[in-house]
Amino acid sequence: MSAHLRRSLSRRDLLGLSPRAGAAVQIGNACLAFNQVACESCADICEAGAIQFNRVGAIRRPIVYADVCTACEACLEVCPVGALQIHRP
Ligand code: SF4
Ligand code: SF4
Repeated sequence: MSAHLRRSLSRRDLLGLSPRAGAAVQIGNACLAFNQVACESCADICEAGAIQFNRVGAIRRPIVYADVCTACEACLEVCPVGALQIHRP
């Protein structure tokens, strides 16, 4: 593999996941973790590992890695407050 090709591969390429025309999940303000309530259901269900949590104060907050998200919508099913939606560019 050339150095140029290695640089051009995204994590989604490397994981063998199928992109859906750049679609990826977005997290809205209703997210419990953004409102001081502990919840990590979306990350727990995501097989691609596209949602990771960072600690901010006492609560861990989610971050979406859009280049890994396959837009499978599994996380939308488990979010208790409907905070997730798929952004399709
Ligand atoms: S499942 Fe919903 S409420 Fe829970 S952390 Fe994810 S986006 Fe926030
Ligand atoms: S849509 Fe699928 S791949 Fe993307 S964050 Fe949700 S569960 Fe993970």
